Formats: sequence, structure tokens, C-alpha cells
Amino acid sequence: ATQPYDDQNIFARILRGEIPSRKVYEDDFSLAFHDINPQSPTHILVIPKGAYVSWDDFTAKASDAEIAGFVRAVGHVARDAGLVAPGYRLLANTGTHSHQEVPHLHVHIMAGRPLGPLLA
Ligand code: 5GP
Repeated sequence: ATQPYDDQNIFARILRGEIPSRKVYEDDFSLAFHDINPQSPTHILVIPKGAYVSWDDFTAKASDAEIAGFVRAVGHVARDAGLVAPGYRLLANTGTHSHQEVPHLHVHIMAGRPLGPLLA
């Protein structure tokens, strides 16, 4: 089963405005901001505003409007950042084996250099 949501996680605190972030996009359902420790020249995180630990938790509990809004937000951010032609990678880690560090669903958008094979 999915772990319970911890409302003290760092992205919950960013959503509440308790700690700053470099925002790139925000709408009713989603927030996008720059990763604090970028692994590529462009490294943006997109998160739903709701309290969801992971992709499986989100898709089990969120409304269709939240899910559609979030998926559209990821695409919007990629287009708006000019990443379509050079290309970009989406990544969402879940749980221990994937090395998820922050237990609030986030999609990494990585771009700005050739990224290599996924598991390199
Ligand atoms: P994960 O390993 O959970 O998929 O990725 C978590 C990401 O969140 C990491 O890339 C990490 O650099 C980023 N991160 C952790 N703490 C903060 C923070 O306080 N602010 C921002 N902007 N990014 C953070």
C-alpha cells in the first residue's frame, strides 16, 4: 500500500509558501519550479497541488480534472521552456528502489544536453 502522505515534506512546504522556490509555472492544480540541485542545464520539477505521494497514489485518488490539469501542465512547461525541438526527458521516481527522496509526486523535466541512455 502507498505510504501515508507526510504534510511536512519539502514540496508540501514549498506549496504552502513556507520555503522559497524558483517557480516557472503555476495553475489551479499544478506548480512547476527549478530543481535545487539540477542534473542537467534545464531541470524542472512539476508537482500536483494535492497531497499525493506518487503516480499510483495520484491516479487512484485524484479527480479527472486534477489528472488532466497536471498532465497538461507538464506538456505546457516543456513547450514553454523551448524543449520540444532539442528534446527532454520526463522521470517520476516512486519508492525505495527508484530512490524517491521527496514523498510528494513530482515529474522531473530534464533537458539542455544529450542525456544519454536512461540507465547510464
Ligand atoms: P527524487 O529523488 O525524489 O525523484 O527527486 C527529488 C528532487 O527534489 C531532487 O532532484 C532534489 O534536488 C530536489 N529537491 C530537494 N529539495 C528541494 C528543495 O528544497 N527545493 C527544490 N527546488 N528542489 C529540491
